[in-house]
Amino acid sequence: MQRVRLFHGTAFTCQLASKAVTHLCTRKCEGCNIVRMSFRLAYIGKNRRRTKWQRLGNGIYFSPHASKCHFYSGTGVRGMFLADVVLGRSYKPSTMELERLCPPPGYHSSYGEAGKCGLNYDEYAVFDEVACLPLLLYVYSYTSTTE
Ligand SMILES: [Zn+2]
Repeated sequence: MQRVRLFHGTAFTCQLASKAVTHLCTRKCEGCNIVRMSFRLAYIGKNRRRTKWQRLGNGIYFSPHASKCHFYSGTGVRGMFLADVVLGRSYKPSTMELERLCPPPGYHSSYGEAGKCGLNYDEYAVFDEVACLPLLLYVYSYTSTTE
């Protein structure tokens, strides 16, 4: 099985990322929930399902490019995870597949190649929660108004 380290950008709606807070919040905070429960299909991308932003379907998204994940890491003080991801055999669609719930038989993940599926960066979607494990949380601030 192919295991790689990939990035996942997530917003924190609490103060964990921005201040010296040492405990996880109890709100519906995407970042704290990943720290608490790892990546969960029930929560990740909840507000983006079946939109053009879920180009590979309803999976958990990762990219080898931190600059891609930056766009999903909130605003101001941001959070980004580095994760171990078992991709297995990756299916490579040539067009967007917004309704996909799992990879086709014989595959374990989907790979969106930059330039296809409306993507400007390579990204992967995994559809099994045990295939991905958060390793590190990067907290950084970015204040440019131009992204
Ligand atoms: Zn939080």
